[in-house]
Amino acid sequence: MPIYEYRHTKEVGETCEETFEIFQKMSDDTLKKCTVCGKPVEKILSRFSGGADKLAPSRLKELGFTKLVKRDKGVYEKE
Ligand SMILES: [Zn+2]
Repeated sequence: MPIYEYRHTKEVGETCEETFEIFQKMSDDTLKKCTVCGKPVEKILSRFSGGADKLAPSRLKELGFTKLVKRDKGVYEKE
């Protein structure tokens, strides 16, 4: 089952992290509200759909990712 990552768009519930991950079936609707605090949330990306690869490098940097590219001999280097 894919893991989806959501972010609170306005307030964050007292017992919530600003972002959280949740297992959902592909067929499940996108959450509009946090299942814990009920405040509005939006989906960030799905780990299983290669979402990070589709993001622009500047956006990746913003999210704290470092894009790695495969070089010869299976060595990964920072691009
Ligand atoms: Zn919450």
